[in-house]
Amino acid sequence: MMPLLKVEQLRKAFGSHEVLRGIDMQVNRGDVTCIVGPSGSGKSTLLRCLNHLEKPTGGAVFLMGEPVGLRWKGARLHEMSFNELARQRQRMGMVFQGFHLFPHKTALENVIEAPIVVKGIARAQAVDEAMALLDKVGMKDRAHYYPAQLSGGQQQRTAIARSLAMKPDLMLFDEPTSALDPELVGEVLATMRQLAQEGMTMVVVTHEMGFARDVADHLIFMDGGVIVEEGTPAEVLKAPRHDRTRAFLSRVL
Ligand code: ADP
Ligand code: MG
Repeated sequence: MMPLLKVEQLRKAFGSHEVLRGIDMQVNRGDVTCIVGPSGSGKSTLLRCLNHLEKPTGGAVFLMGEPVGLRWKGARLHEMSFNELARQRQRMGMVFQGFHLFPHKTALENVIEAPIVVKGIARAQAVDEAMALLDKVGMKDRAHYYPAQLSGGQQQRTAIARSLAMKPDLMLFDEPTSALDPELVGEVLATMRQLAQEGMTMVVVTHEMGFARDVADHLIFMDGGVIVEEGTPAEVLKAPRHDRTRAFLSRVL
């Protein structure tokens, strides 16, 4: 079976600073992959390269076998047009540490915006689908609230519903709970757990080792722009093979 996402020898440099130094990974449909590692190890850059928010300086990312951000012209790969890239990106929902909701729109208006504007879905249908998603993330009764009237956890759950509204093939999460007050982390993780149980393919950068241990099918430990260690959570957490993994785990567990 073709992996949903395949990363081959991915490299990213900012000037002379090589942040990603040859990443290979593969994500099958329905898998939850958690990526952990110290600050500055390149986790966010990797996630941003997956959907071409950052342009890799080497290697490539394939979504269902199609190169991300690039297309074949004859025998050579060229940069995609903005529209082509936008269409491809829609297939990868992204949720960030900060929630990035439109402040002047209600939760519901945030969720229906892209389906209406980008996909051209009729408003009534977009509202129906958005209400179902807001219900799923436990935000139905707050649908008409503005972001400033919502807690961080509620905003993040709305942001998740907004991503889901585009019916992505996979969801990318970059430390989705790191900006939250501790008492709000659980509700967002519960929403993500539920998504995973429903079979959503997810790549999650997180410091929540409990979530990684319970939910991940595959756990990746990154340090210094490379994958140092990977495997099932049990393999990586219970029997880390590398000193760098052990040192990291001793700090976070
Ligand atoms: P992590 O998410 O693991 O904390 P990042 O991917 O954010 O790590 O960053 C990895 C390294 O890349 C850091 O040293 C960071 O300063 C550098 N970096 C990230 N983005 C940029 C950028 N746009 N320009 C220059 N350096 C960057
Ligand atoms: Mg980061």
